[in-house]
Amino acid sequence: MTLTNATPFIAGNWKMHKTVAEADELVSQLMAASADMMEAEVVVIPPFTALNKVKNTLCESPIQLGAQNMYWEDQGAYTGEISPPMLVEAGCRYVVIGHSERRQFFGETNETVNKKIKAALYHGLLPILCVGESLEEREKGETMAKVGRQLSEGLEGLTPEQFSQVIIAYEPIWAIGTGLTATPEQAQEVHAFIREKLSENYGNTACSCAIILYGGSVKPANAFSLLKEKDINGALVGGAALKADSFIELVKESIRAYREK
Ligand code: PEP
Repeated sequence: MTLTNATPFIAGNWKMHKTVAEADELVSQLMAASADMMEAEVVVIPPFTALNKVKNTLCESPIQLGAQNMYWEDQGAYTGEISPPMLVEAGCRYVVIGHSERRQFFGETNETVNKKIKAALYHGLLPILCVGESLEEREKGETMAKVGRQLSEGLEGLTPEQFSQVIIAYEPIWAIGTGLTATPEQAQEVHAFIREKLSENYGNTACSCAIILYGGSVKPANAFSLLKEKDINGALVGGAALKADSFIELVKESIRAYREK
């Protein structure tokens, strides 16, 4: 499957929210609005316990399924972990790797992120690699150095062909779940840097097609201005993805931005 940024890519990360019944209700509401979201790649990312039920409900729907994390081994004595084949079996196409909450609370490093990316690709899962700086790093002028390192270490050893299956999400940590959003200009600056940096390793053609998402308090009110920016191809959404109305509106605003780009 070839990834393209010709349409907006909007993924809703439900984090540790939604029981199976609640997840099913939310995805049913989203499916009812599928016709309004056809011009976007829409992905729902429920907790592990709801993957199976959501997949069954989605059935042939164009809405895609993703997981929030995985371990890099296929199986073994790794209590509490989930393997790539388990996610494939559950019907996932995408998997989030290296979310800042995983890095901050669960000790993920660029090295473990790299192992997970390689394992995901090996099993045909499309990884969404999250990168981003803290407020302190931004204030010290270290944003590009931090993001650059997360990219080079997280993607270490990937061939251009493997890279073409990876989605990048730029998520400034200070903007996640805080209500603070990077301005479109701040986000665009980092997105342009990411595209430029990746083209050094993977070539201009691959990088002009690469999907680079922005994440950090994206909501219906700011999706249009963010997605109008040249290098912003979509959004990874937390809070605003938990209610059908706001998520659907956000997808519609993203489509509107893309039409006017
Ligand atoms: C996220 O979960 O990746 C995220 C960006 O959350 P929020 O939209 O709530 O800031």
